[in-house]
Amino acid sequence: MISKSKLVYDFSEGSREMRDLLGGKGANVAEMTRILGPERVPAGFTITTEVCVAYMEADRQEPEGLEEQVSEALGRLEAHAGRELGHARDPLLVSVRSGARESMPGMLDTVLNLGLNHESVEGLAKITKNERFAWDSFRRFVQMFANVCRGVSGESIEAAIERHKAEAGVELDTELDVDRLRALTGDLEALYRQKTGEDFPQDPYEQLRHAIRAVFDSWLGERAVAYRRMNRIPDRWGTAANVQQMVFGNKGDSSCSGVAFSRDEVTGEPEPSGDFLVNAQGEDVVSGVRTPRDISELRGAMPSAHQELMDILRALEGHYRDMQDTEFTVEEGSLFMLQTRSAQRPAQAGVRFAVDAVNEGLLEKHEALLTIDADRLDALLHDTFVPGTEFTILTEGVAASPGAARGQIVFTADDAVTAAGEGRQVVLVRPFTEAEDVKGFKAAQGIVTSRGGKASHAALVARGMGKPCVAGAGALEIDLNAKVARVDGQELHEGDVITLDGSTGTITLDEVPLEEPQMTPEFETVLKWSDEMRTLGVRANADTAEDATKAREFGAEGIGLCRSEHIFLGTKHQSTMQAMIMAETDEERGAALQELGSLQKEHFKALFGVMQGQPVTIRLLDPPLHEFIPNAEELAQQVQRARSEGNNDLAELEHTLDRVHELTETNPMLGTRGVRLAVLHPDVYEMQVSAIVRAALEVIEELGEAPMLEVMIPLVAYEQEVELMRELVDRVVDREGASDLELSLGTMIELPRACFVADLIAQRADFFSFGTNDLTQTALGFSRDDVGGEMLARYLDQDILERSPFETIDKPGVGWLVRLAAWVGREAKPELKLGICGEHGGDPESIAFFQLAGLDYVSCSPYRVPIARVAAAQAAVAETPGG
Ligand code: ADP
Ligand code: MG
Ligand code: MG
Repeated sequence: MISKSKLVYDFSEGSREMRDLLGGKGANVAEMTRILGPERVPAGFTITTEVCVAYMEADRQEPEGLEEQVSEALGRLEAHAGRELGHARDPLLVSVRSGARESMPGMLDTVLNLGLNHESVEGLAKITKNERFAWDSFRRFVQMFANVCRGVSGESIEAAIERHKAEAGVELDTELDVDRLRALTGDLEALYRQKTGEDFPQDPYEQLRHAIRAVFDSWLGERAVAYRRMNRIPDRWGTAANVQQMVFGNKGDSSCSGVAFSRDEVTGEPEPSGDFLVNAQGEDVVSGVRTPRDISELRGAMPSAHQELMDILRALEGHYRDMQDTEFTVEEGSLFMLQTRSAQRPAQAGVRFAVDAVNEGLLEKHEALLTIDADRLDALLHDTFVPGTEFTILTEGVAASPGAARGQIVFTADDAVTAAGEGRQVVLVRPFTEAEDVKGFKAAQGIVTSRGGKASHAALVARGMGKPCVAGAGALEIDLNAKVARVDGQELHEGDVITLDGSTGTITLDEVPLEEPQMTPEFETVLKWSDEMRTLGVRANADTAEDATKAREFGAEGIGLCRSEHIFLGTKHQSTMQAMIMAETDEERGAALQELGSLQKEHFKALFGVMQGQPVTIRLLDPPLHEFIPNAEELAQQVQRARSEGNNDLAELEHTLDRVHELTETNPMLGTRGVRLAVLHPDVYEMQVSAIVRAALEVIEELGEAPMLEVMIPLVAYEQEVELMRELVDRVVDREGASDLELSLGTMIELPRACFVADLIAQRADFFSFGTNDLTQTALGFSRDDVGGEMLARYLDQDILERSPFETIDKPGVGWLVRLAAWVGREAKPELKLGICGEHGGDPESIAFFQLAGLDYVSCSPYRVPIARVAAAQAAVAETPGG
């Protein structure tokens, strides 16, 4: 439904604020008209995005009143230009240009030189005294109109052009003379007739109607729909259509068309960059029919236009207060601006621009910070493909953990460890990964899986460790027994070298050169500003002294999550853990626990040594016990084998298998884990707390200071659980004679019930840390291990979800639980400390939400810490504009 009766706006009526209605192109062309003056921007008008929406809703029917308003606007344009559309002696020609709210480069259609026909082309030739130009314009129009408005294939059009070039014996279309262009146009018209069964339309108004429709139709085209899916642009926005007086870059050697960035679009250096082509119209610059020249050469070719362009680029930057990406045409020496928009920029250019903009006085620090896309900063923290390198994609999957990596293929974690021991670089390739594969992640340069998505185990662990990962590369068929992977009829064997880019999800056999990340001085500056401006604390999730060191390097202010089970999972100590779990007698269990305790103490001691003076949150054992013991299926196979071979280990193996079956739960994620385990077997948590206390006492004795200790209980649902755990902790602290040691006790908040009774829990806890991975899982009832495949993809496709709730917090649902718990928790205890330690802690959009929810800190993987620092500063600036 159209809400307003005004369907068409002249450029002189619009402004940049009207982007939703006029589209980005229309709004900015109008803005440029105002600030640069009407002589710099060809005049025209915009048919609104609402018209496109109405057109779609009415099954491709133009809304009532459109024709009239277009014809009135055209009348004003004709009066302004002093020419009539398609007039036989002195025709007005126009372009019809699409333009959505968000730029969708190259996805929507444009028609140039509209208004030409058999009569007006002759008129144009006469009045400009440039016959070649007139015919060049006409053949371009026939070409574009046929293709865009009537679906005549680009190949058949190209073939006609190629034929004429070959007959004329020339390579470039600029070398075709008038006669050739006439003949070519005739052939194109014949092609048009053949493909559509109609003559090429001579009536300029009919041409215009078709072109406007074609622009709206292009919104619904396959290309555009696919692009919107990928970039999460809603279908309902629609595109505007702009009708604009033509200016001509194809009038000879003093004319050109080009694109220009106000600064180097790759490096962000202050010198403008861009491309141009002499004697050409705009589409030639992007289509690659000729190789464009660097914008610096424009100075020599057209000095005054070059100078004007440089001045305008500065003026536009000053006006928009952001780096600009523009399109221009020079017609016989006069410069016209045809488009401007904020420039897309890679991370290094974004950071460079922000710092330069402040130094130049263009922006205040807080404004400069907001121009940075925090998500993209990832690229500055990992190896990347050298930009611009060409390579053949072997196959693609989900971009699960950023960065590029190369190595020989291995198929098991053990092989990865062995290879790394021999000094070989490897990539671990598995259908999916589990806890016991983690040692292989450490040893590998990167990880590839054929199943799972961004929330899969492989993706989470890889991101946590800063290892590049491509997950869910579904075309890879991995045969673990034969140690081969097949894709598209190719076989990959152990030892074959592959290269992956976890930022894009691509895998290649080509040895693409890789580039090391660089902490530039500009990036350091941006981080320094961020620390000045943010109010949220930023901590890291770190399990080992090594992680902790990395975290401090990246500027973490403490550890928000140390998973205490780390040293027992997938390490050589797993067998001790197994012995404890499998123990038959109290003595056996006690002995195993004692050994675990001393391992745990040494581990904490190393970590505490790195983290002196900073807070460290240690989460007591969280996973279900069966994760520490052998895989039931593998074990059953061993039992089979032992049975047939008459092996004497049989009895023991059978016994183990029984125990494994006892421990195995149907829904382990909702089973006996976290605090529930401690309610059943308090001795494990007792062992862990005493390890913490002893490690702290030893560090104090040896180094003078320990970290600020925060013991955290996972999976709490009931306030009584916290009470029980406080008693346990007090008991152990007493027993260790450490009642002077400062140690606070808090809980993970990761179950909906905990959010509802947060006041009751807060009365018994010193801090909350939101475990938003599990909270999302339990609040939505989505299994985080399974959601990555088909289902999530469909939910995204059908716009039920905009992003995965495991990447960006589901604000109205899970986010509401966070706000509720924060609110009632603080009601009960105003000094309650609040943090978040899920994957969301490193996601800029979620960080903005946590700022508003009033949390004290976020905690994320060490490699995301710099991103979180910038995002937290942006969130603080957004909350109190003006800094
Ligand atoms: P896209 O969104 O694909 O960039 P545009 O509508 O910007 O499409 O048109 C592509 C190119 O066509 C422009 O960069 C410009 O060179 C040329 N063009 C569009 N309108 C005009 C015009 N009125 N006069 C001259 N050239 C034009
Ligand atoms: Mg454009
Ligand atoms: Mg959890």
